[in-house]
Amino acid sequence: MSIIYHTQQYKLADKAMENFIDADEIHEILHSHQQPTMEQVNEVIARSLTKNRLSLAETAILVNANEPEMVEAIKTAAKQLKEQVYGKRIVLFAPLYIGNLCINDCAYCGFRSSNKKQERITLGKQDIINQVTALEDAGHKRLILVYGEHPRYDARFIADTVKMVYGVKSGNGEIRRVNINAAPLDVEGFKIVKEAGIGTYQIFQETYHRPTYEKVHLKGTKKHFDWRLASLDRAQEAGIDDVGIGALFGLYDWRFEVLGLLRHVNHFEAVYNVGPHTISFPRIQSASGFEVDKQYAVSDADFTKLVAVLRLAVPYTGLILTAREPGSIRDEILQYGVSQIDGGTNIEMKGYTSHKEQQNLDHEQFEICDNRTLNEVMEELVEDGYIPSFCTACYRLKRTGEHFMEFSVPGFIKRFCQPNALLTLAEYLEDYAPPATKEKGYKLIEDSLRDYDDERFKSKLNERLERIKAGERDLYF
Ligand code: SAM
Ligand code: SF4
Repeated sequence: MSIIYHTQQYKLADKAMENFIDADEIHEILHSHQQPTMEQVNEVIARSLTKNRLSLAETAILVNANEPEMVEAIKTAAKQLKEQVYGKRIVLFAPLYIGNLCINDCAYCGFRSSNKKQERITLGKQDIINQVTALEDAGHKRLILVYGEHPRYDARFIADTVKMVYGVKSGNGEIRRVNINAAPLDVEGFKIVKEAGIGTYQIFQETYHRPTYEKVHLKGTKKHFDWRLASLDRAQEAGIDDVGIGALFGLYDWRFEVLGLLRHVNHFEAVYNVGPHTISFPRIQSASGFEVDKQYAVSDADFTKLVAVLRLAVPYTGLILTAREPGSIRDEILQYGVSQIDGGTNIEMKGYTSHKEQQNLDHEQFEICDNRTLNEVMEELVEDGYIPSFCTACYRLKRTGEHFMEFSVPGFIKRFCQPNALLTLAEYLEDYAPPATKEKGYKLIEDSLRDYDDERFKSKLNERLERIKAGERDLYF
């Protein structure tokens, strides 16, 4: 019997706004694909390498592949796929916490309403200007704004703060793309936020396992599994087709969550004909007021494997890794196909201007493990041969469905994404990099130019690089 379950079946069943998670089905698929053979693992890997999204059953085979040579084969294939599909670019962003008031009581989060130790802060206009100025002065061009859930943070508030961020200009600095991670809105609310010109709207389901969901969400609107599960359907209905999904790893069995994420992807594809733009896979970190038992804690070995499995399962979906993870884990999983990371992250309220050495858990949501500055992250990426990118071209040229463009137009990455990455890197090197990073960065640009045998295109790209050196900014293809 073929191991492939055709995802076509969801075309018949899935409807907008309706629950699509069937826990029994996921458990059954995981259960019936235990202890796969090397042959089965290789068969699934081969399908992924031809850039097919995997079915739940195929993904279950990879998830259950535990022999060291199987794990090795999965990781090697993920590296290969990453290089084929994404090339060497890594997009950089920073989170900016706008407000930590919260009516919910999520057992894992420092902002939970029952945590009376948490100092509650909402950034005012001047605070936003100060934080964004500091981020721009470090070289950032892309931010994700993060909010607790509170009546004060309604759609208008979110839209206003987005517009404030776009309005801050410091020297050559500007924020060219503002993404959002905030509570689910209704369709009207999503429309208001869309009008403010947001990029991606991210909402993590946290866990796709309803009983666990109900156990860890003790109070407030977030208690309602179905309202959250349908939230990005409402975003789609409001015209936001650029959405990010995620699961908080450590609440329930990671294998189940991987299949839950995949089921969410095929729900979007079935109903809206477009998958989510990104998947996030935060691994739970300690926090002030933290009350989650360690039963489902994900080990480093399982975590690195699950990222490789996700890469193979959804070749065309961006994968986001954050500073929750220490440098060593970040370095390893960057190779398996992560397409975006944060750099120079500070999740303390007003943290980008406070310059404190120590984290204070009573001022932030959870602990972070990568405290490097943006420049340190940039320099390491460059040394490892990655091209750090701040590119926002597609979104600003209204090439909508950015990921769709990237992957559906042959040669798009080489012709647009990679050159734009090089142009934004040159801007960074000119405006923000210390001399050592600048030297290494320009060496990487020179080496990357050798990849182009189309001399006409190469000279166009060179000409733009020269214009950037001469002081022009925001050039892209
Ligand atoms: N309040 C909104 C919500 O809950 O969706 C948006 C912001 S919330 C601050 C962003 C995400 O942080 C959550 O969706 C959750 O996955 C993650 N998070 C919360 N507590 C965490 C912890 N202790 N460790 C790692 N990630 C955590
Ligand atoms: Fe509030 Fe979000 Fe934290 Fe839950 S995860 S307590 S909703 S900020």
